[in-house]
Amino acid sequence: MLENFHTHLPYCGHASGTALEYIKQAEALQFRALGFSDHSPVPSHMYGVQGFKMKESELSLYRDEVLSAKKEATIPIYLGMEVDIISQEKAYLEEVLIPQLKPDYLLGSIHYIRLGDGSYADLGSIESAKHFDLYIEQLRWAITQPHFLFIGHADRVIMNDYVQKNDASLRDVWQAIAKLAKAHNKPMEFNTSAPLHRSEVFWQEMLREQVSVLVSSDAHAPSRLGYGLVEGYAWLEKHGAQIVYGSELLSK
Ligand SMILES: [Zn+2]
Ligand SMILES: [Zn+2]
Repeated sequence: MLENFHTHLPYCGHASGTALEYIKQAEALQFRALGFSDHSPVPSHMYGVQGFKMKESELSLYRDEVLSAKKEATIPIYLGMEVDIISQEKAYLEEVLIPQLKPDYLLGSIHYIRLGDGSYADLGSIESAKHFDLYIEQLRWAITQPHFLFIGHADRVIMNDYVQKNDASLRDVWQAIAKLAKAHNKPMEFNTSAPLHRSEVFWQEMLREQVSVLVSSDAHAPSRLGYGLVEGYAWLEKHGAQIVYGSELLSK
């Protein structure tokens, strides 16, 4: 049973395809549902990180495109958004993003951390335990937030040298994250778009704790919609993972 709840459109500036093209592709792949989740806007004072996000003024265009394409779909379509987890911006999430988009669901992902001086660093530039702690602080906050249906690519932080070098010694941290996710019943995404950005230790701890896992392709083009999904499910099943599906979580 295939589906995908992490799907981008070109509003973010680094994806291609129309909502209808994604829907046609999902139907061709015999998906049972499809969720759109383009990158959310951020408040204007976060000018350093606006490069790969839709503008606030595009929220209604994004919503209209998905809702009008949905009318031509033969499978259930959900309107969502991938929101950057910045706990300090909770008011923006609740007062701007949610009221304007009226989403069916949100997924929370960390692409930046906010440093003490108010500037932002992307995941690639986390280079110290102090930065990593800021990352974990955001992650822990997100896990406790009912707004997020699931947490996107929490282990992608392994893309940077610091985390890669220290992956084994971070087991305690990932174990605590697994326990927190379990306690809050928050699914973690198994992102199939970039297998090299996967932390072995992270997944050992998620599996050990039987954290819910949601598989998605993080597609930035219609041709990538099904990328890695079959292999992802197979790997998780082999390892006894607690797999959950977006469509089932949303129908509850
Ligand atoms: Zn993206
Ligand atoms: Zn992301």
